[in-house]
Amino acid sequence: MSSITCPECGTMNTPDSVFCAACGASLATATTAPPPPPPSATTAPPPPTVSPVERPTGVTILGVLAVIAGILQILSGILLAFLFDSGGIVVLFLIIAIFYFITGWGLLNLKKWSWYIALILSIIGLVGFPVGTIISVIVLWYLWKTRNYFGL
Ligand SMILES: [Zn+2]
Repeated sequence: MSSITCPECGTMNTPDSVFCAACGASLATATTAPPPPPPSATTAPPPPTVSPVERPTGVTILGVLAVIAGILQILSGILLAFLFDSGGIVVLFLIIAIFYFITGWGLLNLKKWSWYIALILSIIGLVGFPVGTIISVIVLWYLWKTRNYFGL
């Protein structure tokens, strides 16, 4: 810095000046650097830590189980086709498998319609006494508990 500009009159003063040579104003303020900008109030708020729709773990399990059930349907169909030497059975089981896959995908994406399909499948499963009934009751209870996640 070669000189100090007087804040009052604009006169250039020598760097060691304390008061302006022209008007006598204090040069203390002129030597200080302009104040740093205040912390920006326009900084973006921190991103939300929770995603808008958080899928419960149980729904993920149900979705994965539906996909596994679909795979088992295909395997069952192939097995039965070999046993009965009939390709038509594969097609039937494949249709059921696709049904399971779509339901699984829907559950994993919290689709409302998949909740209804899972509900219907669980009600049908109630007849599979005793294991199917127990599993279906658990699934039904869980579906009811998590219905809000599906927008119900
Ligand atoms: Zn001055």
